[in-house]
Amino acid sequence: MLEKKVISKLRKILGQKAVLTAREDLNAYSYDGTTTWVHMPDVVVLPTTAEQVSQVLKLANDNKVPVTPRGAGTNVSGGSIPIKGGIVLCTTRMNKILDINKTNLTATVEPGVVLQDFNIALARQGLFYPPDPQSFLGCTIGGTIAENAGGPYCVKYGVTKQYVLGLEVVLANGYIMQLGGVTVKNRTGYELMMLFTGSEGTLGVITRITLRLMPLPPANKTMMAIFDDMAVGGQAVSSIMASGVVPAKIEFVDNFVIRRIEEMTPMGLPVEAKALLLIQADGSPAAVEAEAKQIVDILKKSGAKEIKVAKNANEAARYWKMRSAGFAAVFSAAHTVLAEDVAVPRDKLAEFIRKLEDISKKSGFFISYLGHAGDGNLHPSIFTDIRNKKEFDKAQKTMGEIFEAALALGGVLSGEHGIGLEKQRFLKRAMDPVALNLMIKIKGILDPNHILNPGKIWEEEKV
Ligand SMILES: Cc1cc2nc3c(=O)[nH]c(=O)nc-3n(C[C@H](O)[C@H](O)[C@H](O)COP(=O)(O)OP(=O)(O)OC[C@H]3O[C@@H](n4cnc5c(N)ncnc54)[C@H](O)[C@@H]3O)c2cc1C
Repeated sequence: MLEKKVISKLRKILGQKAVLTAREDLNAYSYDGTTTWVHMPDVVVLPTTAEQVSQVLKLANDNKVPVTPRGAGTNVSGGSIPIKGGIVLCTTRMNKILDINKTNLTATVEPGVVLQDFNIALARQGLFYPPDPQSFLGCTIGGTIAENAGGPYCVKYGVTKQYVLGLEVVLANGYIMQLGGVTVKNRTGYELMMLFTGSEGTLGVITRITLRLMPLPPANKTMMAIFDDMAVGGQAVSSIMASGVVPAKIEFVDNFVIRRIEEMTPMGLPVEAKALLLIQADGSPAAVEAEAKQIVDILKKSGAKEIKVAKNANEAARYWKMRSAGFAAVFSAAHTVLAEDVAVPRDKLAEFIRKLEDISKKSGFFISYLGHAGDGNLHPSIFTDIRNKKEFDKAQKTMGEIFEAALALGGVLSGEHGIGLEKQRFLKRAMDPVALNLMIKIKGILDPNHILNPGKIWEEEKV
């Protein structure tokens, strides 16, 4: 329980309306995109300036009060759950686009800008910011930096970290630190910006971000390929990537997700398909035509049962809407959904899918897959119920086997969702012990009182 004097100091820093303590308000900040984790904060603060963030952190540090940074709370790793109580520092009122520079191809934003608002503002000027987590309608840019988020476009354009040029970060002691700038190249000392990109709110609060932009590709074409066998679909992805063509997006959707989406919003999907790939080529019109033709040829040779090429922008938008409904389809399918985020080398995708099929048979759990196949990044999901301890423990054990299978193929625990609370028990297994220890030491240097998002990434006893 937070001392009253801390709350009244918070009110002095932020004003009455930016400090929430009513139970119904706190409730809204007690959960995130997972179905497993809930914990109430003692207080929620809604700063509008870096100076206010600095004063909040200084107060929290002096009083050793936990602070959990939060954007929109859409993460799926337990990252923004205030597991130790204390303060939730939510950035949604820091939502200004400060600058879009069409000549320098950069933009500077506050952390609470919603990704979709940013995309719309850029599109009006013919500009494009590729990282596109499928929560783009709600997630904040600060949250995507803290998670180093990815999305369908990352096959061709890379993940969030490839676009971060400058950051303003408030450290645990309240110091407002500037990193990087507005240049594309910068070789001044260690790459500290990368330390904060993907740091899951454990090293500092990001209060300003400068991003690299691209011109909006003038043309694109979407294709949907239907498969009778999931692993054959996985092999088709490897064949496309080996052919020299780099599509903008290659996404994988399994039969379970196809049927769920069709039930939720009928859109004429091929409900009998075992799996489908959604692929987009983009670039100049001539290049797009040539690449699309090459991709269709590879899909035919790879055993696709049917290939549909979207005839116009509306049809393409319908296919992509289906893909972005995928998470809702999965997360609404059971009381508790363990939806993971492993990534394997792209040439191992078919082998990984076969292993998942074996794990499913052996464990008796149905496993659904959806994901960014072009990056080898799948979201295998197990449907369970946390209220049934025996079944939930078995589901977690099965997820452990999925992690092991991915690691054995040279894969990683998380392609984009981060470790948070969800994957910390596997971290030791997946990392070099010296590297892990170094990370813990870095945390200790930057946040010696462990006030920033405590209880995350590492298991408790390690920090
Ligand atoms: C439907 C759906 C689809 C999704 N699809 C994708 C996808 O395709 N790719 C993908 O990568 N993810 C995806 N996600 C996960 C999630 O949307 C991303 O992780 C996103 O980056 C989180 O942004 P947020 O604003 O919601 O951050 P939050 O969930 O609020 O926070 C995420 C983490 O960042 C920290 N944090 C937030 N803001 C700051 C800040 N300003 N400074 C420091 N730390 C901060 C928090 O402490 C927390 O650890 C999806 C989630 C959903 C619900």
